Amino acid sequence: MELPIVNHPEYVAKINENSVFPIKKFSSLANYLLQNKVVENFHVPKECSIKTLSTSHSLEYINHIKNKTLDKKSEIKIGFPINNSVVKRSFLATGGTVLASKLALDHKLACNTAGGSHHASYDYGAGYCVFNDVAVAANYLKYKKQIKNILILDLDVHQGNGNSEIFKNDKNIFTFSMHCKSNYPAKKSKSDLDIELKDRLEDKEYLKILKKNIVYLNKIKFDFVFYIAGVDVHHDDKLGKLMLTDDGINERDRIVIENFFFKKIPLCGVLGGGYNKSFNKLIELHALLHKNCAELF
Ligand SMILES: [Zn+2]
Repeated sequence: MELPIVNHPEYVAKINENSVFPIKKFSSLANYLLQNKVVENFHVPKECSIKTLSTSHSLEYINHIKNKTLDKKSEIKIGFPINNSVVKRSFLATGGTVLASKLALDHKLACNTAGGSHHASYDYGAGYCVFNDVAVAANYLKYKKQIKNILILDLDVHQGNGNSEIFKNDKNIFTFSMHCKSNYPAKKSKSDLDIELKDRLEDKEYLKILKKNIVYLNKIKFDFVFYIAGVDVHHDDKLGKLMLTDDGINERDRIVIENFFFKKIPLCGVLGGGYNKSFNKLIELHALLHKNCAELF
């Protein structure tokens, strides 16, 4: 059996070619994983149901997305035009993380080739995030699968403010965000544990801080882990202000994935952000998550 990886061709939505968001990365990553024999067959998700989405988002907001009736200001805050293909991809990518979380529950490890829309909150989207797939999947596991203690481990360069807002009163879902202090969002929310990093931090110091925090997290009992493996921590990222190398990101992913794998705690890996100056480099960096999981699997 191979590592379960979830992908859908319609993760790629039709948006402006000049957008800062490299939407084509989802299909290029899928091709890269096939060509490099990380996976032979993808698991194909269905669109997330309104019922499952409503565990984490208001019905009013979900319907505004579904019916494309969101006001202009809220649409600008998201950064995507709310057109048919963006609506479709939003439901599919969320369904993808839900499916990946179920696969992770059964097989200890599974990944989506999208997801990590961590700026989306209960009744609004933001920063290229329409629905908060990880929040939806975490609530799905909580209510449908009776999974009690869940860790959302977010290593994207940006703070996972959507998750910390959605779960601020949930004692069983622990939000951990390690991000660059001066990156978006300017106004941070409060996670269960926030680690703010200074600009231009390099591999050695970053990995030292990460390891220290994993030792801390290991003292808490978790039944499931979502790992948001944003690669916008790379030194050539257009948005991120940290200075990690390819090897640094590979080492980061390996440390996280091995830690929970050897403790037999199921882990669902999702993409998170990445805005590298080089598109090919971006694909290679995103694939490190899947490669590291596949190696262990
Ligand atoms: Zn990011």
